[in-house]
Parts: sequence; C-alpha cells; structure tokens
Amino acid sequence: MTQTVLVVGASRGIGRAIATDLCQKGARVVAWSRSGDAPSDVALSQVVDISDPNQVAAALAEMFQQVESLDGLVVNAGITDDGLALRMSNDQWRSVLTTNLDGAFFVARGVLPTLIKRRSGSIVFISSVSPFLGVPGQANYAAAKAGLVGLARSLASEVARRGVRVNVVAPGLIETDMTSEVSSDFLEKVPLGRMGQPQEVAHLVAFLLSPEASYITGSVVPIDGGLSMGL
Ligand code: NAP
Repeated sequence: MTQTVLVVGASRGIGRAIATDLCQKGARVVAWSRSGDAPSDVALSQVVDISDPNQVAAALAEMFQQVESLDGLVVNAGITDDGLALRMSNDQWRSVLTTNLDGAFFVARGVLPTLIKRRSGSIVFISSVSPFLGVPGQANYAAAKAGLVGLARSLASEVARRGVRVNVVAPGLIETDMTSEVSSDFLEKVPLGRMGQPQEVAHLVAFLLSPEASYITGSVVPIDGGLSMGL
C-alpha cells in the first residue's frame, strides 16, 4: 500500500490501531487528535479538535503543505456522554453531536476537493451498531452515529462518478478506553462471545481503503461478532 491516509482520532483505541496497521502496510499516515499522541511511525501528527471548523481548516492547510496529496480519509474520532434522554442536558446532546457528526462533516468536506481533483480516493466513517440496536442512554451518540450513515451515503452518491468511494464501518463492542465499563450482560448478547480487538477493525478499514474494495461504496459494514445480525 503506497497511499497517503489521514486518520482522525489516531491517539488511542481503534484509531491508533488503524494508523499503526496502515503504517505497517506501507502507507504514509497523517494522525489527528486533540492530545497529539500518535504511533511513532506516522508521517505527521497534528493537534486538532474536529468540533471546531476553524481548527479543521487550519490543520488541512498545514497538512497539504507537507503532503502534496491524499488518497484516503478515516473519520474515527468519537466521544460518548451517556444518559437517559429524559435527563440529558442540552450540552450533553450538543457536544456529542458536534464532535461525532459535525466534526466528521467538517473534515470530509475539507478533503473532498483534493480527492475529486485526483478522481480517486476512499473515505471511511467509523459509526457504531448503537443506532441499529437502540441502546438506552445513548440517544445523543446513536443520533450522531446514524447521522454518519446519511452523511456517507449522500456523499457516496455525490462523488461516485468522480472516482471517490465513501463507506461506513459499524463496530460493536471493541476493547478500548470507551468500553472499559461495559457490563457482562451486554457481552452475553454477542454471538461470538467476546469483545472485538481494535486491530480487527483496522484490517477491515485497510481493506475498504484499498483498491481491492474498488466496487464498494455507500455500504455500512458491521464488525460486531454478530451482535447486529439481521438488523
Ligand atoms: P477512544 O479510545 O475513546 O478514542 C477516541 C479517539 O478520538 C481518540 O484518539 C481521541 O483522541 C479522538 N477524539 C475524540 N474527540 C476528538 C475531537 N474533538 N477531535 C479530534 N479527535 C478526537 O474510542 P474508541 O473506542 O477507539 O472509538 C473510536 C471510534 O469508534 C469512535 O468514533 C467510537 O464512537 C467508535 N466505536 C467504538 C466502539 C467500541 O466498542 N470501542 C464501538 C462502536 C463504535 P484525543 O482524546 O487525543 O483527542
């Protein structure tokens, strides 16, 4: 793989595994996060809060001074702030939507002109099984992650004829900081009987970015040990 890929949310968990896997496969990786932590072998690491469109625009301008082009984008950054909808504050609702959905749009909109100009490229949004299952306490998170599906499919239609593919990966329970407090009851619902590993998501993302996935666009691909099968 000789691609240049921007991985958003590459400091921890799934995003870090994606960045590491792409580097191992020979890609040139640009890593974004608020902390600036990143695997040591990335080509460039930038501190960006994607909920702020000005930070996104400035970081993209800086990035394109250092990498002349881009082949792929993985929008993986995400946060949770769970609570029952009846008691959910405006801030709780807004902050999750702003990072998980607005931020994803700001980044995708920013890189699309480059991909369209090259008439090739692949975008992968990391959503979740949450909107398909209906998980109590996650109205904000599920709404944002469902929004990514609508965003991705609209974009996929808009840019398909320009050689750009857009897909969604919907992980189930993956072992990261985000799921450190998941109850064993929930795990019992997973047919494969275990949590997934970040590397397993990374392999799927690398496939969707690669030319081997050249006929896949507008798809939502679950990776959840069977948790959402049939939905
Ligand atoms: P995680 O360990 O909490 O990592 C989240 C990543 O997003 C970090 O790199 C974080 O970096 C970055 N990030 C958060 N807010 C950001 C912002 N405003 N701007 C830039 N970067 C930001 O989470 P994870 O479990 O790996 O999850 C990764 C993605 O998969 C998320 O979108 C999550 O919703 C989704 N997902 C996870 C699971 C699961 O079971 N773990 C299941 C379904 C979907 P900084 O803190 O350094 O900014």
